[in-house]
Amino acid sequence: MRYSALELLKQGLSGNKGWPLLWRSPAPKPAYDALIIGGGGHGLATAYYLARNHGMTNVAVLEKGYLGSGNIGRNTTIVRANYLLAGNSEFYSHSLKLWEGMETDLNFNAMHSQRGIINLFHSDGQRDAFARRGNAMINQGDDAILLDREGVRREVPYLDFDQTRYPIYGGLWHKRGGTARHDAVAWGYARGADQRGVDLIQNCEVTGFLIENGSVQGVQTTRGEIRAPKVGMVVAGRSGQVAEMAGFRLPIESHILQAFVTEGLKPCIDQVITYGMGHFYISQSDKGGLVFGGDLDFYASYAQRGNLPMAEHVVEAGMTLMPMIGKAKMLRSWGGIMDMTPDGSPIIDHSPVQGLYVNGGWCYGGFKAVPASGWCMAHLMATDTVHEIARRYRLDRFRTGHLIDEEATGSQHNLH
Ligand SMILES: Cc1cc2nc3c(=O)[nH]c(=O)nc-3n(C[C@H](O)[C@H](O)[C@H](O)COP(=O)(O)OP(=O)(O)OC[C@H]3O[C@@H](n4cnc5c(N)ncnc54)[C@H](O)[C@@H]3O)c2cc1C
Repeated sequence: MRYSALELLKQGLSGNKGWPLLWRSPAPKPAYDALIIGGGGHGLATAYYLARNHGMTNVAVLEKGYLGSGNIGRNTTIVRANYLLAGNSEFYSHSLKLWEGMETDLNFNAMHSQRGIINLFHSDGQRDAFARRGNAMINQGDDAILLDREGVRREVPYLDFDQTRYPIYGGLWHKRGGTARHDAVAWGYARGADQRGVDLIQNCEVTGFLIENGSVQGVQTTRGEIRAPKVGMVVAGRSGQVAEMAGFRLPIESHILQAFVTEGLKPCIDQVITYGMGHFYISQSDKGGLVFGGDLDFYASYAQRGNLPMAEHVVEAGMTLMPMIGKAKMLRSWGGIMDMTPDGSPIIDHSPVQGLYVNGGWCYGGFKAVPASGWCMAHLMATDTVHEIARRYRLDRFRTGHLIDEEATGSQHNLH
């Protein structure tokens, strides 16, 4: 079914009884042309673009839980293209362009909202760094405006401008940035892939690989053996574990990132705001909840929950920047498993096993990457060649030293 205003009217008049399920629930076939492990944002987008861009439809996505149960449904939903370094810059720029056409392409409302992002800066040095970043964004063809303190005050008057420890000097405003409803993105790609014939198999955990003479032949799963000459590993925080099953190691550590949401409030925060001197960023969801997050919990873990010290740290930073937040009641917090690389940039590449491809290392920035990642991963799996805009996301950069260290914090996974 194609969603439209006319369809909405027809369904409304007939008691909303005719809406079909978003996707089928087929039993796995014994063999496919390609398998994708992981039904998160990146896996589903890969499946969709394999079918849409390359005509590969004899494909299955194997998800150990339910679609969207991983980080795709756990993030703070920020979408932006404000990167500095070559490699990241062109990739995220392409991703934002795909975001801008995605809902029309998928015929699905993902509530993509280009409400703008303001990254605050708090010193002369930080202003210089942000000015440089803004110039790089404009050179890439994206947008950036450098606001002074009064410019920030005009846009976000509720911040604490009297704070003396880290005074607000200004902000870098990226107007095309914003948010999207995260699980709707997974559902939209899932529906689009299913409509093109891709099998989405839930409750199907990959437990091992079938490898002969260095080439992948398929996988072992909790629902039996499934064969395919091409397999994409798109499992985010579980990348290390799944790679180990295939007999190789990845330069990825798994760490926890938490997020928080308050009770629903009347609209008060129009943009996404990030604090330049503390671990805190915030936006307001369409339901009214203030959605905010901070930094990693700083220890490696596969638990999908965090601990109280980081919760306290994030809330303290929020109170410093925006004291009014103290009046809101926090409803929930949760955690997701971040696939952290030593340089904070991702991997889309061949693996040491013929026919097995790796997509991972998205750290805490992989939501905005979903469309371009799916686009490039599908290209890699279909053509066996690396897509031009993902050419720097090769595994061998960790051997050659050609890292893309956007935060310039050095080779340490949990500092990015
Ligand atoms: C709290 C938090 C805030 C974040 N905020 C942002 C943000 O504001 N902006 C942004 O751009 N990014 C953000 N991110 C990062 C972003 O969510 C992730 O980088 C991205 O979602 C990871 O890719 P994915 O969607 O494919 O991962 P996932 O949704 O985790 O998908 C991986 C899937 O693989 C499945 N899987 C694992 N092992 C197996 C197996 N053996 N067999 C079968 N299936 C398997 C998992 O069950 C999972 O569903 C945030 C993340 C968190 C946790």
